[in-house]
Amino acid sequence: MEYFLNFDTSKLPEDRADVVICGSGIGGLTTAIVLGELGITPLLLTRGVGNTYYSQGGIACALHPEDSPYLHALDTQKAGRGLCNEGNLRILVDGGVQGFVNLKRWGVEFDKETTIEGGHSFPRVYKVKDYTGKAIHEALWRRVKELKIRIVRGELQEILGEGRVEGIVYYDGSMKFIRTSILVLATGGAASMFLHTSNPVRVRGDALGIVLRKGLSLVNPEFVQFHPTVVKNTSILISEAVRGEGAVLVDQKGERFVNELEPRDVVARAIYRKMKEGGEVFLDLRPLKAAGIELRERFPTIYGMLREKGYEPEKEPIPVTPASHYFIGGVEVNSYGKTILEGLYAVGECACTGVHGANRLASNSLLEGVVFGYRTAYRIFHDLSFYRKSSKGNFKNLREGKRKPPYTFEDLRGLMWEACGLERDEEGLKRASEKLKVWIEGYKHWTPSIENRQLLDISLVALATVSCALWRKESRGVHYRKDYPHEREEFRRESLYTLEKPAS
Ligand SMILES: Cc1cc2nc3c(=O)[nH]c(=O)nc-3n(C[C@H](O)[C@H](O)[C@H](O)COP(=O)(O)OP(=O)(O)OC[C@H]3O[C@@H](n4cnc5c(N)ncnc54)[C@H](O)[C@@H]3O)c2cc1C
Repeated sequence: MEYFLNFDTSKLPEDRADVVICGSGIGGLTTAIVLGELGITPLLLTRGVGNTYYSQGGIACALHPEDSPYLHALDTQKAGRGLCNEGNLRILVDGGVQGFVNLKRWGVEFDKETTIEGGHSFPRVYKVKDYTGKAIHEALWRRVKELKIRIVRGELQEILGEGRVEGIVYYDGSMKFIRTSILVLATGGAASMFLHTSNPVRVRGDALGIVLRKGLSLVNPEFVQFHPTVVKNTSILISEAVRGEGAVLVDQKGERFVNELEPRDVVARAIYRKMKEGGEVFLDLRPLKAAGIELRERFPTIYGMLREKGYEPEKEPIPVTPASHYFIGGVEVNSYGKTILEGLYAVGECACTGVHGANRLASNSLLEGVVFGYRTAYRIFHDLSFYRKSSKGNFKNLREGKRKPPYTFEDLRGLMWEACGLERDEEGLKRASEKLKVWIEGYKHWTPSIENRQLLDISLVALATVSCALWRKESRGVHYRKDYPHEREEFRRESLYTLEKPAS
């Protein structure tokens, strides 16, 4: 299974770039800026803002004299349940100093005071009120423009080349071709493949499917982190800090049913079970007001988003659901973002450096994007002279196809939520795996449209997630199996998935 779309690059408008970076979240923007500062102007392809923009909490860095990268690593390891990649974790926590200074140098104005978040033993989370991600995005975007980096609005469709990167096909209303020998994927995670999600629709994880079609592996796709409190039927996340300040969770009778300050996965599962029993769950923010906390001042973004949806958080409890939030797995990369395909790099949530292990510690992912984006840029600066330039050859995939896929993206999200969500078991996962295989088996006859390419690619990632969840016969970190509720030593290792060799 390689190309899906119908194209012939000799008939497409052609462009050329030394380096193409796909994605404009913290990973892609950092890589682009550092390359730009090193004198190499990449082309930045993006279909809009990603999860970075919506990050509320902050970025974790061990900078205070009484804190240390060692303590930060210990906290991360504790959450990661024995699966953290030690070498890369060291790089992550040590790289915080450089990453933080770079963000400030590029114009991010952090608040003076830091906060503490679940799982951290020190208040090392740097923030800009409750809109850290937006502040980071805006500063980095400005720097990209100052450096005159070429920005192209469009969507990656196909990665071209045999045994190495030779170009890409993207879509911006029509199909276009870029010849390049280096592609950096910074396309974010795939958590939005579940019915309830905190991720915006632009971050769909379909690029990970393109990578699978290219024959590469995904590592640890079964580890999907769920956030306990997202406003029902939206992607509005209400951060833990709100519960930390006194908001309580109640059911439809107004009764509390869980200690709101338990770890994220415990609270999320308690809400999930309540909903499975047919109940409804609400987050009551009124205790904040009673405690003298002005919601609109303390949490201006959350307050604003709730009001926009017509909720009055000072007067009524808000209906919430747990929702998929963060995709811990990703494309297999080394500590410089290199994949096994010559010329292909990956950075940020779409890559798996292994730093999070089986559960991501809050505020470590923005850090990962800035630290590994920096390293990836330096590696590319060095590698550029070694790569063969993209040839003059053309690429094509000519095929017919008139069928509609027998399912929709919404069907897929419903299936993933039911069978591969917060609580998994053999029976549900097998059912989901069979269903996904039946859904995608006739893909060669589907109309080769952009929408169908997206659906196929997301389905491939979903199948990887389900297959590895089935393979992992234990519970560890965010992966919870009702039929194997404990960690098992023989599974204290990463899972690996390719289309050729599913789940091992
Ligand atoms: C609501 C919310 C709150 C969060 N809060 C925090 C926090 O406080 N601290 C923290 O550390 N982490 C937080 N996270 C997680 C964090 O935001 C992400 O892990 C991180 O921002 C990912 O950065 P990224 O650069 O990898 O991808 P993203 O920022 O998700 O960007 C992905 C980019 O890829 C583009 N893209 C995707 N596919 C294609 C394609 N096929 N073609 C072209 N472009 C494509 C998108 O348009 C986007 O520009 C939060 C996440 C969410 C959803």
